[in-house]
Amino acid sequence: MSSIAVVNAGSSSLKFAVFDAAETPVLRLKGAIDGIGATPRARLSRADGATLLDEALAPENFDHAAATRTMMRIAAPWLDGADISAVGHRVVHGGGVFSAPLRITEADMEALARFIPLAPLHQPHNLAVIRAMLAEHPQLPQVACFDTAFHATQPPIAQAFALPRKYSQAGLRRYGFHGISYQYVAGRLKEVAPDLASRRVIVAHLGNGASLCGMIDGGSVASTMGFTTVDGLMMGTRCGALDPGALLHLMDHYGLGPREVEDLIYRQSGLLGVSGLSADMRALRASAAAQAKEAIALFVYRIRREIGSLAAALGGLDALVFTAGIGENDAATRAEVAAGCAWLGVELDDTANRAAQTKISAPQSSVAVFVIPTNEELEIARSAYRLVRPN
Ligand code: ADP
Repeated sequence: MSSIAVVNAGSSSLKFAVFDAAETPVLRLKGAIDGIGATPRARLSRADGATLLDEALAPENFDHAAATRTMMRIAAPWLDGADISAVGHRVVHGGGVFSAPLRITEADMEALARFIPLAPLHQPHNLAVIRAMLAEHPQLPQVACFDTAFHATQPPIAQAFALPRKYSQAGLRRYGFHGISYQYVAGRLKEVAPDLASRRVIVAHLGNGASLCGMIDGGSVASTMGFTTVDGLMMGTRCGALDPGALLHLMDHYGLGPREVEDLIYRQSGLLGVSGLSADMRALRASAAAQAKEAIALFVYRIRREIGSLAAALGGLDALVFTAGIGENDAATRAEVAAGCAWLGVELDDTANRAAQTKISAPQSSVAVFVIPTNEELEIARSAYRLVRPN
């Protein structure tokens, strides 16, 4: 039996998982290397959560390439002699070019590097790990799965900005993200409710990052994230959609430079900025502070507004699906969002919602509502396996 490794590289962390290589991959190991560039630490656990390793690493020269080597080293003893036959990577941006998982060659790296300015916070780290893998294990297939790819089916009008054409021709357009999660959830919806999967569906991916995707027949038609991952909904630390004039005002009136604005809108805003307390929904739900309640109210209000917008793009709504950390676990957010969508015919079954059952809408609801846990690692493992499996 061989294995598929799945890697999700962030600015200071590398999360990974190892699956048995199969049509339906089975999770074997989960791990993370945190503190890259500062005080690195490696953790490894079995699929059932039992800790196998938790160790501090020497900080000298510990970059993403070192993290990659550490991952291969610490996973090896637990693979029961099973070789890793492919590595699947989450890559945030595939531009307008890559609309499906890709087995990467050196030549592709150049094309992918061209998208770094479109996703400066994620793309460089994603690519650093792939580059290290290609250098150290040249025979090992590296597969990229793009967060943008799922949205390639959107009609041009959903992707366009009303800017002069020279900018749109240079790639300034809406792309949409969280596509690996949407792909997985669309697949699960097909299993859970095959009659609805082909109809008008909104999936709400509500985690630290949050977005909505409008789908018809399981394909993306419109999404709330656009050119970058800061657009659309209010998130843990990102502000979501903001009047572009407000950015100019922040620069002109408060003298903020581009990097300071970036820090403000990506890291200091959202639930954290509005509450002044925390970016974490659990902490806000547990707080009695008025500002925590206001932050949650705004989070929910923005979701309701954007559901209305996507329902308009879809021409109606047949199903609503909640996923990711908040969507899967916070019954109160689901209830509050649903209450604001009563005009669309959404009605929850309170007991089913509190129990986070798969179907949580009341029998008379004209929109079926579901909770479907996402699994981006499994989606990547499956895609990687399909590209390298023996015929
Ligand atoms: P990421 O985008 O980092 O993958 P997650 O999908 O893990 O994020 O979602 C993290 C969010 O989910 C946090 O706001 C966290 O508070 C929230 N969350 C997780 N579990 C619960 C819970 N039981 N109740 C409410 N919120 C929860």
